[in-house]
Amino acid sequence: QAKAAGKGTFRVYETGMTERIQARRLLEIDLRRALALKQFDVVYQPQVDIATGAISGFEALIRWQHPVRGPVSPGEFIPAAEEIGIISAVSEWVLRTACREAMSWPGDISVAVNLSPVQFRNGRLLEVVTSALSATGLPASRLELEITEGALLENSDAVLAVLRSLRALGIRISMDDFGTGYSSLSYLQKFPLDKIKIDRSFIRNIDHEPDRLHLVRAIAALAKGLGMKTTAEGVETLAELQCVRSEGCTEVQGYFTGRPVPAREAAALLSSGVQGSSSREND
Ligand code: C2E
Ligand code: MG
Ligand code: MG
Ligand code: MG
Repeated sequence: QAKAAGKGTFRVYETGMTERIQARRLLEIDLRRALALKQFDVVYQPQVDIATGAISGFEALIRWQHPVRGPVSPGEFIPAAEEIGIISAVSEWVLRTACREAMSWPGDISVAVNLSPVQFRNGRLLEVVTSALSATGLPASRLELEITEGALLENSDAVLAVLRSLRALGIRISMDDFGTGYSSLSYLQKFPLDKIKIDRSFIRNIDHEPDRLHLVRAIAALAKGLGMKTTAEGVETLAELQCVRSEGCTEVQGYFTGRPVPAREAAALLSSGVQGSSSREND
């Protein structure tokens, strides 16, 4: 009977919705608990200077070991944390942890911390960053903040003012996931940026994809002309590394030069001069 089938179909759809909403509610509860119970960790992925082959810094990446589900990827829980309004607290914790752990690394090795666009909305960002630096003693010149195009889209005058203040302190600003957002090239001129991180989707298989090669060549030239560095994200093979080097990228970050590792191993990488070995994270 058509009517019954229709009803049945509707019910299946409704059940799917309910399950998704329920899964989301569980994730929210778990996230709040994770923050309270300190279930998060930070791992560090080497950023390598292409010209010298030396590690110039590490990117701090959050990890969540869920007590039942095991590791949950930031690609899943960061957007949820943004929606439920706890991303600022999570990010503040990452920032403090990263600044503190970076203090155990030698010399002028820097640490890069990801910012969520949400953090530009509450007017506290500058204060949060300066207090993390003063609490840990990390010099501003060793901190790099990674922003995404999404951060520049709304209320751009306020964002511009914050970025200028951060930079005046000596902090460097990187544009993360370059090429995947929706904003225009004009922001490269408007905002004070030190580095462009070319998204992994342009780097993958670059040695077999002439279109990607041309895009990366153009982005590297553009960045150079504007006085910025360029990082190739997600380099996994020697052939990809050779391509991005010959196209003018100044830095590389990817599994080929090193997976994310705990802070202590990051320090060991620096002192041994060995890059991309040791107990690597499997993800
Ligand atoms: P992202 O900032 O672009 O970080 C780079 C991501 O690419 C990391 O994923 C890293 O593990 C991965 N990756 C690096 N090299 C390679 C490679 O050669 N191949 C492949 N397949 N992947 C590679 P992860 O740690 O899962 O983080 C995903 C995203 O989650 C990050 O992208 C960032 O947008 C966000 N995220 C991570 N930690 C934080 C945080 O503390 N705060 C905020 N707001 N966002 C974070
Ligand atoms: Mg990043
Ligand atoms: Mg990225
Ligand atoms: Mg990203």
